[in-house]
Amino acid sequence: MEPKLFCQSCTMPIDKLADRGTEKDGSKSSEYCKYCYQNGALINPNMTFEEIKALVITQMKKMNLPPGIVEKSVKSLPYLKRWRTVHEKEPL
Ligand SMILES: [Zn+2]
Repeated sequence: MEPKLFCQSCTMPIDKLADRGTEKDGSKSSEYCKYCYQNGALINPNMTFEEIKALVITQMKKMNLPPGIVEKSVKSLPYLKRWRTVHEKEPL
């Protein structure tokens, strides 16, 4: 089954509630994973696009995902909600 929801910071699938970040009121985020977002705030708000890209590649390699999937995720990173605004100001 193809995941439907992805973290808008790191592309991790967040179909499972357990993988989602939490809002201030304790409810689950529908936009970010638990590694990026807790208590209504991004965990690493100062992380740059290059840093998150390196992190995604490292995490996905650890998960033994096929290179095609890793590449696809990295390519989709600039289009995520968190990074879109960055690249609107500063085109790729
Ligand atoms: Zn994430």
